[in-house]
Amino acid sequence: MNENPNVAEYFGCNVFNDTVMRERLPKYAYKAVVKTKQFGIALDPDVADVVANAMKDWAVERGATHFTHWFQPMTGVTAEKHDAFISPAPHGQVILEFSGKELIKGEPDASSFPSGGLRATFEARGYTAWDPTSDAFIKDGSLYIPTAFCSYTGEILDKKTPLLRSMEAVNEQALRILRLFGNTKATRVVTTVGPEQEYFLVDKKYYDQREDLIVTGRTLFGAKPPKGQELEDHYFGNIKQRVSDFMKDLDKELWKLGIYAKTKHNEVAPAQHELAPIFATSNIAADHNQLTMELMKKIALKHGLVCLLHEKPFAGINGSGKHNNWSMSSNDGQNLLDPGDTPQENMQFLTFLCAIIKGVHEYAPLLRLSAASAGNDHRLGANEAPPAIVSMFIGSELEEVIEALESGKKYVSSTAEFDIGVDALPNFKKDTTDRNRTSPFAFTGNKFEFRMLGSADSISCTNTIMNTIMAEELGQFADELEKADDFQKALKDLLVRTIKEHKQIIFNGNGYSDEWIAEAEKRGLPNLVSTVDCVPLYTKPEYVSIFEKFKVYTKVEIESRTEILLENYAKVINIEALTMLDMARKQIIPTAVKVTKQVCDAALAKKELGIDNAFETGYASRLSSLTSGISDAVRVLDEKVIAAQGIEDIQAEAKFYRSDVFVAMQNLRCLVDELEMNVSSEEWPMPSYVDLLFTV
Ligand code: ADP
Ligand code: MG
Repeated sequence: MNENPNVAEYFGCNVFNDTVMRERLPKYAYKAVVKTKQFGIALDPDVADVVANAMKDWAVERGATHFTHWFQPMTGVTAEKHDAFISPAPHGQVILEFSGKELIKGEPDASSFPSGGLRATFEARGYTAWDPTSDAFIKDGSLYIPTAFCSYTGEILDKKTPLLRSMEAVNEQALRILRLFGNTKATRVVTTVGPEQEYFLVDKKYYDQREDLIVTGRTLFGAKPPKGQELEDHYFGNIKQRVSDFMKDLDKELWKLGIYAKTKHNEVAPAQHELAPIFATSNIAADHNQLTMELMKKIALKHGLVCLLHEKPFAGINGSGKHNNWSMSSNDGQNLLDPGDTPQENMQFLTFLCAIIKGVHEYAPLLRLSAASAGNDHRLGANEAPPAIVSMFIGSELEEVIEALESGKKYVSSTAEFDIGVDALPNFKKDTTDRNRTSPFAFTGNKFEFRMLGSADSISCTNTIMNTIMAEELGQFADELEKADDFQKALKDLLVRTIKEHKQIIFNGNGYSDEWIAEAEKRGLPNLVSTVDCVPLYTKPEYVSIFEKFKVYTKVEIESRTEILLENYAKVINIEALTMLDMARKQIIPTAVKVTKQVCDAALAKKELGIDNAFETGYASRLSSLTSGISDAVRVLDEKVIAAQGIEDIQAEAKFYRSDVFVAMQNLRCLVDELEMNVSSEEWPMPSYVDLLFTV
């Protein structure tokens, strides 16, 4: 490759994609793979051997020596175990082999991955199964095969399987609706996602001096810098050379992996940036987002930078989210959330819209908990991200259409009057207020943007839940409409009723305001402030029943996921608390003592010379009382951590971490940050917020 090759030449060069398969597979094998991709029909073992062999030859030509089943256990990161293609041959030689069996199924030891109690009930053995809908690719000399991960008795242990199942569910139910509108062409409906990924870049030399960043991914201490984001000069600002070099490198590597990285820009906070890909079907988008996060971290290091994906690396500075742009499309080329140009298309769109309104209203806590984590608790409801109350923004034009439909009156726009269902409505373009980021679930012209998700999270859980909710609502609509003698009348009745019953989920105002919190309470919309408030709701019978109905999760699997989420929450806070204690004892208190002594020495020296030392004595006593405050706060935090560790029940433990440990951490932090502002930067034992945020 020359120095600056054409992107089109190398895009997807590391992917075993459709073009490669067409070139390299015999026609019958190619056709079989396409069928497997589209309809999930298992490959014949002979065909699997042919496919595996072609994959291996292709990978080896590109320098690969190993293959790995790549999967997404409940740790939140991906997992892989590499096997070389080599097999012994006579005379001390090797041959390179890869069989269909090895392609289709792997058997990693499942016992060390989080299983949330499943392990106790079932065997520890697990297996990985090829997901042919997501292309294999080469990275670091290995052929990566995207796979699902299950226990030997069939319980799912990963994030991919439920997502695939939820996509099947929504496909089936959405097709029923399309048929009712007379569509006989479409044979498949997929959900699509474009996740906008936010991140921070900090200088590695400063990162390396901060135990909190290294261990927890966020700063546990740090006085506010004199400048934050108030000047709003970073958002879309010009990109510094070093960051730009990183972004170019990143784009290139993502493109080689067939990832459509499209948009890059500076974000609101200093040192914060965003990357958005072109949307893809949900499971591919999920795989690609995992790869994107991984490559961001790796490539940053090459530039002497560290990429922070934590939701809240810096207190007082905007955190990072991941906007989940979500829609549905059918294989006859329709975006089902596009209002369309004809009365017929308008009505179909309004049907899907009403199903979403009903679903978001009825299952708001599920959507909320899909974005729950210790890290994201710092963002939601903190006036930088959507509030913890789930509501929907549909824009004023669309709200008027909905109102007109409900009241049976004509919809009056600036240009004309429209009879809904009879006249074609004007295009509802993005409402200008959609830039108002306060809504957790906003309609943006032809898709919904779910804005609660945290930057570090996998998008799988959110999309699994979203898809399952939609399958349920579309299924209910189809049940009712399929029975109707007069479809048009039944449809209007259904939509009007749905709007009447569920419109309180629609809120177009400012979600950050206190009035909204009060108003939401009046409307009966839950405000689930933290992870420990929402995660336990996962197992509510009415939620379990939709997951079971669409075979996305069993009850036991949901219970295990609930346990994993709470366990993870407790572990994260525990690690943060222990890190704070360590830093306070080994770095902060010793610094305080040392600096106090310096000031006392200065006071004594002045006294000896007969110079007024009121400033030094005052300073010393301020330092001294801060230090004893810190020492007390350390003791309290230590006691709380010990108490938390003694709690058996996971839900009670997680709650205690929130109510007691987390609060004790905040108290300690306040005092330390106060101390930091009273100590010279030379003596302070770690880089400051200014060093971290303004020096790249
Ligand atoms: P914004 O104004 O929010 O930046 P964009 O049009 O740039 O809107 O889209 C943001 C993200 O939404 C991109 O990742 C884009 O690919 C994605 N997106 C666009 N259309 C769809 C769709 N139909 N389904 C899912 N995601 C979509
Ligand atoms: Mg956006």
